[in-house]
Parts: sequence; C-alpha cells; structure tokens
Amino acid sequence: MKLSLPRTMSVATKAAITLSIVVGLLFLVSGMAAYFDIRRQALSEALVRLDSQNRQVAELQEGRFTRLRAAHEHAKQLLLAELAQGANPDDARNLDTLFPRDHRGGRRSADLLFDGGQTPFGYVRGVGAYIREEPDARQRALILRATRVAHAVGEGIRPDLKSLYFFTPGNTLIMFAPDRADRLGFYRKKAPGNLDFQQETFAKISTPELNPSRSTRCTPLVHILYDKSGKTWTTGCMTPVDWNGRHIGTWGTSLLLDDLLSADELQALPSTDTVLVSGEGMLIRHPRYTHQSKAAPEQLLDLRSTRNPELQALWQFIRSNASGSFLGHVPQLGAHVSMRRIGTPGWYILTIQNDAVIQSGAVRAVARVAITAILCVLLQVVAISLLIRRYVGKPLAQLTDRTRALSQRFQTMAVPSSRTKTGRDEVEQLAHDFDDMADKLTGAHRDLEQQVAQRTDQLHRANLELSRLADCDTLTGVPNRRRIVQDVEQRLMLHNPRRLYMLVIDIDHFKRVNDSYGHLVGDRLLTDIAHDARALLRDNDLFGRIGGEEFMALIEASGPDEATIVAERLRSGIARKNRTFVEGTGGEVTISIGIANADNRSSFAELYAAADAALYEAKHQGRNRWVLEEACRPGQISGTSVDMDIGSDPTTD
Ligand code: GH3
Ligand code: MG
Ligand code: MG
Repeated sequence: MKLSLPRTMSVATKAAITLSIVVGLLFLVSGMAAYFDIRRQALSEALVRLDSQNRQVAELQEGRFTRLRAAHEHAKQLLLAELAQGANPDDARNLDTLFPRDHRGGRRSADLLFDGGQTPFGYVRGVGAYIREEPDARQRALILRATRVAHAVGEGIRPDLKSLYFFTPGNTLIMFAPDRADRLGFYRKKAPGNLDFQQETFAKISTPELNPSRSTRCTPLVHILYDKSGKTWTTGCMTPVDWNGRHIGTWGTSLLLDDLLSADELQALPSTDTVLVSGEGMLIRHPRYTHQSKAAPEQLLDLRSTRNPELQALWQFIRSNASGSFLGHVPQLGAHVSMRRIGTPGWYILTIQNDAVIQSGAVRAVARVAITAILCVLLQVVAISLLIRRYVGKPLAQLTDRTRALSQRFQTMAVPSSRTKTGRDEVEQLAHDFDDMADKLTGAHRDLEQQVAQRTDQLHRANLELSRLADCDTLTGVPNRRRIVQDVEQRLMLHNPRRLYMLVIDIDHFKRVNDSYGHLVGDRLLTDIAHDARALLRDNDLFGRIGGEEFMALIEASGPDEATIVAERLRSGIARKNRTFVEGTGGEVTISIGIANADNRSSFAELYAAADAALYEAKHQGRNRWVLEEACRPGQISGTSVDMDIGSDPTTD
C-alpha cells in the first residue's frame, strides 16, 4: 500500500504526521508485545491460582476422608476391644430398655437415645437404630457396644463428619447423626419390619467378596436411603469390621452433597468451577448441574451416558488424564483446568476457569497499557509538531521567502514568475523558486556575456582603428612617417643590410599643381600617387609617406641593379599615367627617386641622409629620374643617372 500525503500539505505537517505514524507504530508494536507478555503472565498467574485452589480443595477433601478413615479405624478398634471383653449380664435388660421391640417386628431405638438421656454407658444423644431380627447374646453385645462406640466417636468427629453408623449383614443399623433434619425418623419410626439394605451399594462394597482388602470404600453418588423423593444425594464411605475372620458389620459415614464443599471452601477464587467426579464417572459436584435441592436427572450425573456435550467433553478429558494430575489449558472445555485425584473415594477434583475470564484479565491490563500508549502518542505528536515547526517549518518558510525575493530581482527577464504557482509544499516551492532563480541568473549571465563580447568586439575594433590611425597617413592611407621609420629601423636590424635599399621619392613640381588647381586637387593627386606607388612595389617592400609630397620605400635587392630596376618601374609607372586634375585639364606627373644601400650604415638617419642626397642629385639633374647614391655606383658607370624629360620612360626610349 502506498501512503501519500497531499502535495499542498506543508513539509512540517508531513514530517510530523510521518514521524507520528512511525512512533505510533512503535508504540503499537510495544503495546502488542506488552499485551502478549501480560497475557502470558496473566495465564501463568491464573494457572498458579487455579492450581492453588485445586490443591486447597483436594487437601480439604483428602483431609476429610483421612479423618473419616481415621474415625472409622478408631471406631473399629474400640468396638473390637469392647467385644473382646465378652458379654455383659445386663445386656438383655439394657437392650430391652434402649431398643424396645416394635410391633412390626424387630426393634427400634428408644427416643431418649436420640433426644438425649442417661444410659448404662453414660449420656447418649443423636442415636437412632433399626434392628430387623431379634438378636442373640452376641448380637446384643455387638449392638450395645456399637451404640456406645458410635456415640462416643461420632461426638468426637462432629461437625466435620455429620454421621457415623454401624450396620450388620443382618440389617441392623445404629446411626449417630444428631444434626439430621429428619431426626432419624425413618430408622427409628417409619422403616418397615422387613427393611433389607444388603443389596444397596454401601452395603455391598464392604462384603468380603467385593472388598477383599477390607479397606475403606466409598459409594458413588447415590440417593440417600431414607429419602424416597430422590432429592437428597449422598456418598457413603464404609469400613468393614471383621471379628475372628467373620464380617460382623461395617462402620459408615454419609456425606451429603452440600456438605462436600461448603460455601466457605469455594470462595477462594471467584469465577471458577469446582467439579467433583467419582472414579466411576458419576458427577458428584458441578455448580451448574448438581443441586441438592433439585432432582438432577440421572443421565446428567452419569457422565458415561450423559448427552450433555459439555459433560461429555469433561468425561473425555478425565478419561484421557486418568492418572488424575493435570494443569493447563483444555481446548475441548474452552477452559484452563487444574485436576487432582484423591485416594480414598477415588474422586477427581477439578478446578475450571473459563478462557474468557482469563482473557478479560489480560485485556483489562492491556487497556491500561493502551491508554498509556495513546497518551504517549498524543504527547509525541504535539512535541514532534512543535519541534518540526520550530526547526524545519519556520526556517524553510524564511528560506523560501528569501529565495523568492532574490528571484524577483531578476523579474524583468523573460522567465515566468513562481509566485503564481501553487499546489506544492515549502520544499517543492523552494526548489521551484530556486530553479526559477537559477534560470534567471543563467539568463542574466548569458546576457552579460553577450554584452561583454559585444563591448570587447567594439573595443577591439576601436583599438584596430586607433592603431590604424596611429600608423597610417590620414590623407593617403599608406603608413605614416612614424610607422615607416619604425618598420625600416626594425628591418635594418633583422635583415642583411647589404640587400636593403632605401628609396626616397618626391613628386616633381608639386607646388604648381597646388597653385594651379588648389590644395584639394593636390591632396587627391598625393593620394593617387601613393596608391600607384604602393601597387608598383612588391608585397614585402615597405612604403610610406614621410611628409608633404615625399614618400619612402625600403626594398630588398640582390644588388644595385635590381634596386634601380625597382626604382625605374616606380618612376615609369607613375610618369606613364595621364592624370586628370579638373574637368578638361590634366597631364602627366613625375617623381624623382634617390636610392641608397643600407650596408655600412649605422642608423636610419644616416641611410635616409644618403638617399635624400641622391634625391637632391636627381632633382638637380632635372627630375623624373632616379639616382643611385654614389657609393653604390659601379666604377664604369659612376655618376650615371637616367636622364630624361618629364613624362618619358628612359627604359623604353
Ligand atoms: P621640386 O620639383 O623642386 O620638388 O618642386 P616642388 O614644387 O615640388 O617643391 P616645393 O618644396 O617647392 O613645394 C612643395 C609644395 O608642396 C609646397 C606645399 O604647399 C605643397 N604641399 C606640401 N604638403 C602638401 C599637402 O599635403 N597637400 C597639398 N595640396 N600641398 C602640399
Ligand atoms: Mg619636396
Ligand atoms: Mg617636389
């Protein structure tokens, strides 16, 4: 899943939300970890409590049965000891007094035995008896001794055990139970003369056939004998008594269902069920299914044949843990269970706590953790928001404003403004403004470079013009005196002076042109002559105007002959041309040339002086000619100059 926040949302808010989510998730994870930890702890604590309660109940029950066994053993030993003393002569009389004959047959106990009164063996109360058959001497002794022992031991074990009775295979029953609500009326008054309980479970479990080990045995849960309504459920534990190897009777104690677990014993742990099941699979106690006051359906109590799914599951669980020791979770019961087995009655004692109860304990603890976590998350959201706004949001906004302000300085340039752009956060806005500013700066830089290039070009042109102006003669355009002097001096230094010849050129009678046609015509003639002379020279020859109507050339020549050839080409080239001064008038213009060789000349001035002297000579000889300086003239033609009329070419004449 891709989580995206609105673009327009500020970075501070986005960061706060993102951080809050991350920290919130961390809290959630910690919360979950805490939940599982608390749950595990709650479970283990619940199990400990459950087991502790189960142990308590088991110990109570075990204790009760231990006391019961001890009482029975005590009663048995007392009875046997008394029987060992033999019959008493008063037994028959005493029997008649205490157990008078009943018109329905047999005998019943006198009222004083239950209501309380003196007997030959002391004060007795709470005793009721049923004697079916007329006893012989031995039976009489047994009945009287058993009555005494039942009362004596029975008083001793109250109120823990509410009854102690002795019954014989001949259907005689002597019972001590002073608290019984029916005041033992059944045995004392109502029982028929032919009462036979030998087939009842409690009687059968003490017979030598069914109880060869002669130990204390308990019945499953049964209807109590005297209550025909079937509302009173009980279990009875029986300890057989043998005399001289013969089964003479049984000590028994009945435990009413309500007495098995008193309310006090069960208050230790609320919302748990304490369940008692006999080893045979009879449900002895279950808070929802066994009620002393109501007739519980038989099939419900017999777990082996019950149709109730919950009880079926319970029995299945017990059978699969027949050893009787268990502590843990039982999925089929949806509960946590602690189970023990107590030896004497062979019962399973289960303490059951529903999963939901344990869960709710964990959930309550988790609710506290969750509330704390939510408060922490809210606090961190506020803290993060404030911090991010303080350290990110504000500086970003300021930076954005400054960038925008800077960007606006270049607003005049043709770059679109960012101010109108929306739908972005501060950082995107800042990036946009920054790009905008960068575009404008790049544009400004480019314009500046163009301007600089333009100015540099203009400057270069101006410099070129300046240098041209500095080096050229303004009228004719050929190099001026400064330039030609400089170039000649340079060439004199770098080249072989023997091969260099200076030509000083002067226009003949130029003054006349000025005088005749004016200075403007003179100027134009000067320009024409300069251009013509330049064209007649070679490219690497130097040429310039010295001043007035006088020019100079520096040429390279292998010797005087070659130099004079160049001078002649100049002279004749100029002279040959027919020039127009003004409309209708014109004529030829000639020049005179003085030639000097640079060899052995130490300076420009010296060379110039020699050439000028040769020029003077040429003028003197009649103009329109060249004169080679005297030093250069070959011996046989020494002093020779080309002598000709103005306008004539000596080489062609
Ligand atoms: P020669 O043959 O002896 O050289 O005679 P010339 O007339 O040429 O020489 P002169 O020295 O007598 O006269 C030179 C004249 O050149 C004088 C001057 O007015 C003129 N001149 C010098 N410079 C210029 C210029 O720049 N323009 C014009 N129109 N005339 C100039
Ligand atoms: Mg001159
Ligand atoms: Mg002249």
